[in-house]
Amino acid sequence: MDCDILVIGAGVLGLSSAYHMKRRDPSKKILVIDKFSGPGQGNSAKSEGGFRNVFTSETNYLLADTSIDAYKEMEEQGHDIKLQFIGYLWLFSQGQHEAIKPAVDAIVKRGGSVTVLSLDELKESVPCLVTGFGGDEEAELMGLEDVAVGVFGEKCGSLDADALTRAYEAEFLRLGGEVMYNTEAKRLLLKPEEELGIPGEPFVWQNTRIVGAETSKGSINAAKTVIACGVWAASLMDPVGLDSFMRPKKRQLFAFKDAKLGPLFKVKGLNEEGSIPLTILPKAKILFRSELSEGSIWLGCADDLGRRFELEEDPQAEEDYYTNNVYHVLVKYFPCFEDVRPMNMWAGQYAINSLDETPVVYEAHGMYYIGAASGSGIMKADALGRIIDALVAGEEEAELQGGRRFRVANLGVRYRHVEHERFVI
Ligand SMILES: Cc1cc2nc3c(=O)[nH]c(=O)nc-3n(C[C@H](O)[C@H](O)[C@H](O)COP(=O)(O)OP(=O)(O)OC[C@H]3O[C@@H](n4cnc5c(N)ncnc54)[C@H](O)[C@@H]3O)c2cc1C
Repeated sequence: MDCDILVIGAGVLGLSSAYHMKRRDPSKKILVIDKFSGPGQGNSAKSEGGFRNVFTSETNYLLADTSIDAYKEMEEQGHDIKLQFIGYLWLFSQGQHEAIKPAVDAIVKRGGSVTVLSLDELKESVPCLVTGFGGDEEAELMGLEDVAVGVFGEKCGSLDADALTRAYEAEFLRLGGEVMYNTEAKRLLLKPEEELGIPGEPFVWQNTRIVGAETSKGSINAAKTVIACGVWAASLMDPVGLDSFMRPKKRQLFAFKDAKLGPLFKVKGLNEEGSIPLTILPKAKILFRSELSEGSIWLGCADDLGRRFELEEDPQAEEDYYTNNVYHVLVKYFPCFEDVRPMNMWAGQYAINSLDETPVVYEAHGMYYIGAASGSGIMKADALGRIIDALVAGEEEAELQGGRRFRVANLGVRYRHVEHERFVI
């Protein structure tokens, strides 16, 4: 089988890329393959679906802010991706706030819709939050600090990541794109630009390129091959000596539905829904948000140190990790979680670029790589799809949603230019 562009991976990044490339030139034969039986079955559909434009790095801000605008447009065009602008709420201790204040000021100066909430305003809006632990020995033992300030981001919230991935697939198919599921790329095809038909090719003296993949359904030849394999990218790239600049790490989500959590749906003045925003605790990178479609709470925790890098085909959530670990911190700040057990839990994997936690997009020998999304691939998928489209088309700049421009090489390797991010979760 031959095509102009082969995209390996039908997650949100592969399908956004495929859609933007097809939109540029509908006459191109673009084929997306995935080893699973449908779109987003890798990590995209397992995501918490949080989005925010609150970033200190200009790059992260542009990627997310323009993608959020694109998602608003997708919804206006009839894709029910369940965009909920419930906001993000960072709870900070006094010390944390002093350290982050210059970054918050810079975001406000840039024009970001961020509000700093005083302790009194926080207590008024989120009455079920405990802000002080005077005399609580357990809290002292765990090093929990009193909450002093809230930083609230308005252009932030949650969406249905599965629906977003399917929306890109639908738009891609509408333009005449093709997808093949249950099709695993086994290895990338390397061929000399000028084949001589001599056994043992390619030789070191030949100009060699990646020209598609050997798959479980036979060879697919392509002029250009896009690797959008998420945490699996190294399995295809390592054997040909190309770097994916990411390592996989498990992340878990726990879902709760319990009458005791009622107060989290009676929050005042932060969003139209009257629900708890996506809230980040001052300790242990614990975060949770309301899932309004089912009246539940989804909770995650970014455990870094002590959680190994490892590619897992079917990662499982650990109930223990919630009950013996996360729970004890959570219940101090939000006692409404007392004795509430998860009704559901699942795990996926982040593709982490631990140097700068920003995605990587580059070309090498006919292979185009998009990945290392480091836990923010959903909220940046539209911009990243446009950036790889520009790279494949040989353009130096990509036009993001709303006409903002982005220098493609900034996310590459050789001429990479990304800024330090202070708002990492
Ligand atoms: C628990 C959790 C919570 C998250 N929360 C958020 C969040 O709140 N906000 C946010 O923006 N992001 C979040 N993320 C991150 C987000 O899910 C990822 O950044 C995003 O899904 C990456 O998309 P992708 O297309 O690169 O990867 P994937 O969706 O994993 O897609 C890669 C695809 O490639 C396919 N594939 C791999 N190898 C092959 C092969 N050899 N042949 C054929 N197909 C192959 C896989 O089957 C898979 O479908 C979260 C992730 C997890 C795990």
